[in-house]
Amino acid sequence: MQTLTAECVLDAKAILGEGPVWRAETNDLVWVDIESGEVSCFNPSLGHNKSWKVGEKVGLAVPALNGDLILGMTIGLVRLDLQSGNISPIIDPEKECVNNRFNDGKVDPEGRLWAGTMGLDEAPNVGSLYRLNRNLSIDKLFGDVSISNGMAWTADQKSFYYIDSPTRQIAVFDCDMDSGTVSNRRLAFELPEGMGYPDGMCIDNEGMLWVALWQGWGVGRFDPSGELLSKIEIPVERVTSCCFGGQNWDELYITTASRDLDQSGKLEQPLAGGVFRCKPNVSGPPTNLFLG
Ligand code: CA
Repeated sequence: MQTLTAECVLDAKAILGEGPVWRAETNDLVWVDIESGEVSCFNPSLGHNKSWKVGEKVGLAVPALNGDLILGMTIGLVRLDLQSGNISPIIDPEKECVNNRFNDGKVDPEGRLWAGTMGLDEAPNVGSLYRLNRNLSIDKLFGDVSISNGMAWTADQKSFYYIDSPTRQIAVFDCDMDSGTVSNRRLAFELPEGMGYPDGMCIDNEGMLWVALWQGWGVGRFDPSGELLSKIEIPVERVTSCCFGGQNWDELYITTASRDLDQSGKLEQPLAGGVFRCKPNVSGPPTNLFLG
């Protein structure tokens, strides 16, 4: 097992930093602070971080082809115009579930947004995974999810990896990318003891999975059978998500949280809530833009 290190590139002191996604067009990282209801674009080469307050908890922000961001919130999926700061609703598949919010989401190679929900109080099995289509209709993929988190598709688009965090498992489905459906859910692997809970996830160009370790002080690189190949050590206990970015897609950007830390915890983890970067000697696939 190889140990890697990461540098803090943005000492953001976010409460619940999450959802990193790289934009090639603007060479920056979109990320959210869920608890603060803030969406940010961070340009590492300029060292500039611009934020938008969106007025409620925001679980995901992904770039659309036209330059807008699609957000997932308690009020459903909405569109944020970065020029004007205006927010317009798209659709809310859980109008009846006022205690739910959107959590992690990712755009598939066909330009559709897959996004999951969870209870605001983290109640078990009240969430679902949805697919927002390019024509802005929405389909439910499955329910009985507790905290919908990481997702990744294999390069051949035939398998879909998925994390419902409290299970401590990485599940794998057969995927039909034409129809955007998944079937035959089974266990890929469970996190080894002592590594915390799996949170956000991405896949590299060698088909290996990078899993953010909530309460696990880092990011693990696993082969699909669960062998731990490398670990990026992060000086923060709650590591939330990761994505490939940079001009050559060979940098891993990592978000973290400072939530639940008391005063001594904050002293021990001064970079909690920061954004980190690691060069892991492998690249990942480019970000898919939402095509709706
Ligand atoms: Ca998450």
